[in-house]
Amino acid sequence: RGKKAFIAGVADNNGYGWAIAKSLAAAGAEILLGTWVPALNIFETSLKRGKFDDSRMLPNGSLMEIAKVYPLDAIYDSPEDVPEDVKLNKRYAGAKNWTVKEVAECVKNDFGNIDILVHSLANGSEVTKPLLETSRKGYLAAISASSYSYVSLLQHFLPIMNPGGASISLTYIASERTIPGYGGGMSSAKAALESDTRVLAFEAGRKGKIRVNTISAGPLGSRAAKAIGFIEKMIDYSYVNAPLQKELLADEVGNAAAFLVSPLASAVTGSVVYVDNGLNTMGLAT
Ligand code: NAD
Repeated sequence: RGKKAFIAGVADNNGYGWAIAKSLAAAGAEILLGTWVPALNIFETSLKRGKFDDSRMLPNGSLMEIAKVYPLDAIYDSPEDVPEDVKLNKRYAGAKNWTVKEVAECVKNDFGNIDILVHSLANGSEVTKPLLETSRKGYLAAISASSYSYVSLLQHFLPIMNPGGASISLTYIASERTIPGYGGGMSSAKAALESDTRVLAFEAGRKGKIRVNTISAGPLGSRAAKAIGFIEKMIDYSYVNAPLQKELLADEVGNAAAFLVSPLASAVTGSVVYVDNGLNTMGLAT
């Protein structure tokens, strides 16, 4: 039986979510995507027009099939949580059933149970501000979009996940070492995500025989990372200082993700797994 994967946080072909989808598709999984509501139209249009066809190519020469794209806004758990102005916003009014609870229900109705849940999303409205200058609103927004969104997704998807399944998220080393420039409470949000990985691994392991891990990925010039403003500097820094002096490809993170959600990793849960050319191990810039 083919496995079904729901990947939240894909809105173009540049980010880690897209690469993870490709690695899972190459391994034979059926791919369902969750795309941020404001980015949905352009993503679907680009897909239809074949803009991503080159990067849909899998190692065996076939193109990755996407069974369905679901609109999603992971800062809202159910329709009662959505403020009026968002409901009326024309980018949101055009889509429906995009709160976490509704997306899980739609996936269940369309495809039944799934095996793999991927969280590849983050957002911090004040990411460019130092923590010392971050407002309460900005800090809580970062935590809501980047940390609680994972708790909520797993909470709502666990009941429709087959025992033996697995879930992963993406984190960043700014959670444990100071990375000047990764502000707005995003470092705090990643620390929460990593701590939650351990607790959720316990709870989802006991409750549903589901494994929960997170990948601490090295720098990639994705759309989200470009919004932070210093990604090119981080990529250069990694190239100079990491044990492996090579570009970090999104596909390398995709492949590690495919391993972690596969039976090859059947005893790995609650872990932070570094996929960063080894940069995290260094104590001195070279
Ligand atoms: P990306 O832009 O491809 O992915 C982020 C996605 O989150 C986007 O598709 C965006 O539309 C979506 N999103 C934002 N707010 C959302 C919401 N409320 N609901 C639903 N979706 C929402 O960028 P990426 O860098 O590949 O990010 C994926 C994950 O990888 C993130 O968790 C990020 O923190 C993590 N990460 C990235 C890097 C890097 O250098 N790029 C390094 C380590 C970890």
